[in-house]
Amino acid sequence: MKTLSRRAWVLYLLVLAFLAGVGILFYTFFTNADAWAMKRTNRHIYNKGNLSTAGSIYDESGAVLAETVDGSRSYNSSKDVRTATLHIVGDSQGYIATGIQTAYNDILTGYNIVDGVYDLKKYGKGSDIKLTVNADLCVTGYKALGKNKGTIGVYNYKTGAIVCVVSKPAYDIQNKPSESINNDKTGAYDGVYLNRFFSGVYTPGSTFKIITSASAIDNLPDIGTRSFNCTGEHKVGGDSIKCLSVHGNINFEQALNRSCNSAFAEIAIDLGKEKLTATTDALGFGKRFKVGKVSLAKSSFNISEASTVDVGWAGVGQHTTRVNPCHMMMIVGAIANGGSSPEPYFIKSVTSPTGNVSQTKGGNMLEPMFSQMTANRLDKMLRSNVKNYYGDGKFSGLEMCGKTGTAEVSSNEGGLSPHAWFVGYSQREDFPYAIVVVVENGGSGGSVALPVANKVMQKAESIFGG
Ligand SMILES: [Zn+2]
Repeated sequence: MKTLSRRAWVLYLLVLAFLAGVGILFYTFFTNADAWAMKRTNRHIYNKGNLSTAGSIYDESGAVLAETVDGSRSYNSSKDVRTATLHIVGDSQGYIATGIQTAYNDILTGYNIVDGVYDLKKYGKGSDIKLTVNADLCVTGYKALGKNKGTIGVYNYKTGAIVCVVSKPAYDIQNKPSESINNDKTGAYDGVYLNRFFSGVYTPGSTFKIITSASAIDNLPDIGTRSFNCTGEHKVGGDSIKCLSVHGNINFEQALNRSCNSAFAEIAIDLGKEKLTATTDALGFGKRFKVGKVSLAKSSFNISEASTVDVGWAGVGQHTTRVNPCHMMMIVGAIANGGSSPEPYFIKSVTSPTGNVSQTKGGNMLEPMFSQMTANRLDKMLRSNVKNYYGDGKFSGLEMCGKTGTAEVSSNEGGLSPHAWFVGYSQREDFPYAIVVVVENGGSGGSVALPVANKVMQKAESIFGG
């Protein structure tokens, strides 16, 4: 009897172990099946490591960005379009992880978990993807960046549709300069496989003053009646936060117009670590946003260990703060839209091999970033920046709101010019679009990034304006 029960136990244990094994096998299958079927060695889809048989990718106007012709991938006939849309379309070898050809290869190849690459075998193709992005607008942006690296993004702040994504450096996908990329020692191809709009983070410089302003509006009841006296620096003990000018006596709005470091350092120190951090938390710093299947790089704000003078520097967008450009665009989009940004997206529709079209439903609102009152107040101040300081002539006919930034990069990067930023949006009802521009080592935000933003917004207005 004793022996029997011991045997039974051994059997039970064996059965349990077997079931556990099967469970793990199923679990790994369901979680990794996509990855296994998409391995570059899968000959149905990849030819010598290149994506070959897959659906087409179109821009929002219907222009072909990628398609399969005679078993190999072929791209738009214009070199400018191929280069400017490289990062959103992605390469066929999977180097650009956030590109459609990699991040959405399951859809392009018609893969489904039950049948493997069934659609592909049955129909000889997968699904086609139509983007919300306009290729000509990307070309305008790419050219506007000139010789500099950088990124530009534009989206509709009412629907979330992304209409422009540019990341530079890029290359002509049809004629990849592999030799030059692999042997580059000049830095010309630094981060070439990175879509800077989704995956980059930068020191925000003075664009961060929008965020310090939000915190001040929420936490300092007398902020509207305060006056600041800028002597060219804000002293903290033996240290100081330098201003680019001597602004004299100014109020809160003028401090933002003129981007006064002294005033904003004073505001940040007055707010203190807890309140500034609460504001950045509410805006999604430290959070990983997703745009479709693409995860954005996290923006970061950490002043827990900062000295008082460094809290001042953080308030003017320096210190260790880093911001993802798409996230910054969403922040001003939320201001334009009364406090919340719609979830950004870049896929307009998917057409299955049998012709079924599924449209992307846009417009899902993300968690509110600002109260409506704070958003309205910031909206007025950002409009004042353009109207009373940069000049409406810089954005003819657009009724723009915005903020420039000139972000110092750390001195150990070898005396490089600062990153030039512009972030803003049009107030026009018939043209609800927001833009972010970062020109790496471009110099001044006002003289470099702002004209780039104008070129791109004027072109966007000619395509999407009412
Ligand atoms: Zn100043």
